[in-house]
Amino acid sequence: MSDPSPTAIGHFIDGKVSPGSSGRTGPVFNPATGAQTSVVDLASADEVDTAVASATAALPEWRSSPLARRTDIFFRFRALLDSHRDDLARLITAEHGKVHSDALGEVARGIENAEFACGIPGALKGDFTEQAATGVDVYSIRQPVGVMAGITPFNFPVMVPLWMLATSIACGNTFILKPSEKDPSPSLFIAELLDDAGLPPGVFSVIQGDRVAVDRLVEHPDVKALSFVGSTPVARSVYERGTAAGKRVQALGGAKNHMVVLPDADVGAAADAAVSAAYGSAGERCMAISVVVAVGDVAEPLVAAIAERIPDIVVAPGDQPDAEMGPLITAEHRDNVAAHIGAAAAAGATLVVDGRDLRVDGDGYFLGATLVDHVTADMDIYQREVFGPVLAVVRAGTYDEAVRLVNEHAFGNGTAIFTRDGGAARRYQFDVEVGMVGVNVPIPVPVAYYSFGGWKASLFGDTHIYGPDGIRFCTRAKVITSRWPDPSTSSVDLGFPQNR
Ligand code: NAD
Repeated sequence: MSDPSPTAIGHFIDGKVSPGSSGRTGPVFNPATGAQTSVVDLASADEVDTAVASATAALPEWRSSPLARRTDIFFRFRALLDSHRDDLARLITAEHGKVHSDALGEVARGIENAEFACGIPGALKGDFTEQAATGVDVYSIRQPVGVMAGITPFNFPVMVPLWMLATSIACGNTFILKPSEKDPSPSLFIAELLDDAGLPPGVFSVIQGDRVAVDRLVEHPDVKALSFVGSTPVARSVYERGTAAGKRVQALGGAKNHMVVLPDADVGAAADAAVSAAYGSAGERCMAISVVVAVGDVAEPLVAAIAERIPDIVVAPGDQPDAEMGPLITAEHRDNVAAHIGAAAAAGATLVVDGRDLRVDGDGYFLGATLVDHVTADMDIYQREVFGPVLAVVRAGTYDEAVRLVNEHAFGNGTAIFTRDGGAARRYQFDVEVGMVGVNVPIPVPVAYYSFGGWKASLFGDTHIYGPDGIRFCTRAKVITSRWPDPSTSSVDLGFPQNR
């Protein structure tokens, strides 16, 4: 059912909400009801140019602003985020569909990045070497790269923008966010909080839009660096086109995260972890566990323990207090995931629990938790990112076979090992070709003072996002070699300078 006059969600440029002028809009739905709740303006290239011009104009003053002022603003921003946790979570649930408790978790992990930004003076300290040569000192500083842009996915409409914008702005850059057009509202809320915190106009802008906006950001000569998070094909394309245009780019892509369960693991604890990590947020997390690799004779009891827990998951609209798993983002995506389940069965896998059987009242995009056993490496459901509440179980004879599976997979975002054997866990962290590893931790998203990033087709670029790598990405290094000569010892010397 469509609202006859849906609210329009506009851009945020030059410190104010700015309605779109392109004449193009996209619908925004409540995935729990299937009702259209608003429309989002989709920017033209000209509107992107306006935002870039505003960010360019704001840059000289912002990059010269004292660190004390920047931290002041981030402390206020952090306090505002804290007092609006619930409002942000409600906005997330209304457009993304994830349940309120999960949305609160997303907000909490996002706030960590604002906290990291409060400590920016420490993170930006350079090195200093006294007397590198007689009377010569050498020191390094890090300076902002300029106007930066971030392009974000639908699945974390608060946390992923905060991953990018907090570090970028704290480092002295100006930043333009292009959020997902599927859940655009939280971006404007964040913009207003930054404004309330005292951020000058133009330092942070939001451009709503689709591919048109992304393409313009990728090619605009005044945008110096791009952070992208989304699916692998778009990540690869943004990386290739952005770097060809001379920009610094970090582009994080899709995932297929394996949880290896060794025979000595506590089966109950491993099943709890697998269910939480596979079905939380309806599997729409880039760090969701989508494959359990059951090693040796743990497979039978583990599959039984996971299956036993699934009927207890409360699948319901995310604003219901007892809801544990909400809908998928769109009807189309729900149907794609359902098609993956059908294809897996047709390919010979065993449907232990078929989520397509679940019925939830209304027209929301629900799909039940699904467990597929006897999956093999050649199956589509194993090779492709499904991004829904579907857990595949692959049975491996040995630890080596399990590691080979993980290492041969195209993606390398996250992985976890469940075992009581410290030596095996240590060996796994050494062997595995994946960027983030959990030891008895199913979703090892690093805290904000480390950095987040996968390997292989899960990340294009040289730096991970936020934390120390984020500082490197958002700044350029400069090394200064300095002498303050004593005029009494000064003379002409045409030889090449030596460190004497
Ligand atoms: P998506 O790639 O469809 O969209 C991401 C962004 O790119 C959006 O802002 C969208 O408007 C834009 N976009 C989409 N198609 C485009 C195109 N053809 N050209 C230019 N821009 C385009 O991703 P999504 O569906 O919003 O998000 C889910 C994906 O994101 C999953 O693959 C998930 O694994 C991935 N993800 C990865 C991480 C990570 O850290 N590695 C984190 C979250 C999500």
